[in-house]
Amino acid sequence: MSKPKVAFFDFTSCEGCQLEVLNQEPQDMIDLLNAVEIVNFREAISDKGQDYDIAFIEGSISRPADETRIKKIRRQAKILVALGACACTGGVNAMKNKYSAADYKSYVYKDKAHYERLDTYAVRPVSAVVKVDCEIPGCPINRFEFLRIVKSVLMGVTPQLPEYPVCVECKMKDNVCMYQRGETCMGPVTRAGCDAICTSYGDPCTGCRGFVSHPNINAQKDVLAKHGLSPEDVMLNFTMFNNFSKEDTRR
Ligand code: SF4
Ligand code: SF4
Ligand code: SF4
Repeated sequence: MSKPKVAFFDFTSCEGCQLEVLNQEPQDMIDLLNAVEIVNFREAISDKGQDYDIAFIEGSISRPADETRIKKIRRQAKILVALGACACTGGVNAMKNKYSAADYKSYVYKDKAHYERLDTYAVRPVSAVVKVDCEIPGCPINRFEFLRIVKSVLMGVTPQLPEYPVCVECKMKDNVCMYQRGETCMGPVTRAGCDAICTSYGDPCTGCRGFVSHPNINAQKDVLAKHGLSPEDVMLNFTMFNNFSKEDTRR
């Protein structure tokens, strides 16, 4: 039986998620290569195969030409997987959506701000343009989660992401809560699955894995209640990775 053909494509991104795919333990990489045939993966091989079954998409949709390209990929792929925060939520690229074009152009590009290509298009996640079959969140992705989700996809099973917040993993690691240190943290409303890596190393969670489903119900409210906060208060500060709004249709 032939192996499923897999392709990786990048849009607006730093390519860090693709790097995580390549950063597997040697045996895991051998197992992966035994299970699939990679036909297009610019960061790893020079082949540019256009005949593929599964497409992994890294990066956000940042200009009209990206829409044309992602729609073409969608027509070819039987399964399309969004890889990383840029693809799943718009990621850090969507921060520009909050500002006027004049402001972000002059701030970022200085004397090159007049370039025509720096348009006003609102950055969006892949799912805002085409159907996405599953998402692997994070900035970057967690390579172990990537393998788990790939296995599910190959077995025809819908991959599941944790339906609880980062606080759960953080508490299991006995970390001192950032709020007790007088800092803020997005852990109560952010989807778990990263093993609370940031808070375990002394940094607050900035929400790179996106909101947990139904944060008003599933947030770790006890952590917030101790500090007189609600899930809504924390979500208001969720400004690094979650700035795309479905209502923002600027092109
Ligand atoms: S999600 Fe983060 S690591 Fe992945 S491509 Fe985007 S910026 Fe890079
Ligand atoms: S708020 Fe942050 S530091 Fe506190 S328990 Fe939750 S994830 Fe950990
Ligand atoms: S702790 Fe938060 S910011 Fe850090 S990897 Fe996990 S979800 Fe992302």
